[in-house]
Amino acid sequence: MAPVALHTPEDPLSTHDAVPGHAPSAPHPAPEASSGPLSTALAQLAGAVDMLGLDAGVHEMLATPRREVHVAVPLRRDDGSTVLFRGYRVQHNVSRGPGKGGLRYHPSVDIDEVRALAMWMTWKCAIVDLPYGGAKGGVTIDPREHSTAELERVTRRYTTEIKPVIGPSRDIMAPDMGTDEQTMAWVMDTYSVSEGYTIPGVVTGKPIAVGGSLGRATATSRGVVHSTKAALNEAGVDLAGASVAVQGFGKVGAHAATIFAQEGAHVVAVSDQYGGVRHPDGLDMEALTAHVAETGSVVGFDRADPISNTELLALEVDVLVPAAVEGVIDETTARDVRARFVVEGANGPTTGAGDAILAKNGVIVVPDVLANAGGVVVSYFEWVQANQAYWWTESEIAERLEHRMHSAYADVSALARREDVSLRDAALAIGVQRVAEAHEIRGLYP
Ligand code: NAD
Repeated sequence: MAPVALHTPEDPLSTHDAVPGHAPSAPHPAPEASSGPLSTALAQLAGAVDMLGLDAGVHEMLATPRREVHVAVPLRRDDGSTVLFRGYRVQHNVSRGPGKGGLRYHPSVDIDEVRALAMWMTWKCAIVDLPYGGAKGGVTIDPREHSTAELERVTRRYTTEIKPVIGPSRDIMAPDMGTDEQTMAWVMDTYSVSEGYTIPGVVTGKPIAVGGSLGRATATSRGVVHSTKAALNEAGVDLAGASVAVQGFGKVGAHAATIFAQEGAHVVAVSDQYGGVRHPDGLDMEALTAHVAETGSVVGFDRADPISNTELLALEVDVLVPAAVEGVIDETTARDVRARFVVEGANGPTTGAGDAILAKNGVIVVPDVLANAGGVVVSYFEWVQANQAYWWTESEIAERLEHRMHSAYADVSALARREDVSLRDAALAIGVQRVAEAHEIRGLYP
């Protein structure tokens, strides 16, 4: 494909003006890709590099994290024994601003997963035009097997180990799978105690009582709903009355399901790692939320029928929202997807092969780097508020979030139409181009 200019010719930021010296080049081999999410992320980057006509040197730079920290996290357990966990912090890119990205506690965390997640954060922050780079952290631990006291000790030790590379102007953490606002409060406290004064801007997604932002807890989910609405509107479909299935009932999926229901959609199925439930007329979200609060899972909710995660992905619905783990829509499951729209609440839920099958079958995919960007947008608002020590109202936050999401969607959709590419290809091209441009303008040191 011929290289794509992302701006009109009058615009001083056109690709070719902004990236002088990076004339379109012949296709070149992509940097080494492993399996799993990193190979998906690298293949996506290679596609964007081709579309933009960036050269091999820029490609290699964008494929390689600026900095990786590997740490050992020893824990003294409540019973007095000790156990050691692996921890990571990857700063994929910091050309547009400090690193920004979540902290994940999950047994399958490894360095390649963290690299992929950090890279997606870079594009995501650029797509919604935040002054951040991309980063991610993780500890290979199953939080369900540890007491609150143990998780606090793990968090404080991990924070201490990576402290040299984080900070409100260096790299700002937020919750991800297996971590929450309490985890962020421990990170902030550990960092602040070590510096000798309170530094709320080192993390976002904190409790309100210690400088968290109104609206942060539901921001990712609200962003998912805004981008769903935008995609449905373009296709002339009303969200009210549409049917929705949500995989994952955690911080993203549970709020998304509730907000979808509040918007008049029928949430016909939800699931978590233990299984799922369905009701053809729409689940009673209030009763379901109470059931989850009591039992810890959607499974066993008596006003619905059981359904497996695989069956949920194959439901005939208007909107399917994968909001759990990576790689669930792959070359096998994608063939069975009968939803008209897939809106990616999770990071990397669709593999490259899965994506190709969805495209062939006419399924419109709103990609993760756009669909779930609401969380980092309100994280940015939280950071701005912390830095100014001045707090905005919930309605100011909600309006600004909605505006950012709709304007990012409009940019992506316009490029997708103009170039006749998918929303994912268009989103990645915008994100990658903005980062490449920042690299080029800053120049190479020394
Ligand atoms: P969470 O830990 O709060 O919830 C995860 C949910 O997924 C739980 O309901 C869990 O039971 C379920 N789950 C785990 N493994 C599963 C499996 N194999 N099959 C089905 N369900 C499974 O995590 P979260 O913060 O809601 O994050 C979910 C996804 O959204 C992740 O990909 C994360 O990176 C992404 N994300 C989160 C945020 C945020 O603000 N929390 C922002 C952007 C993207």
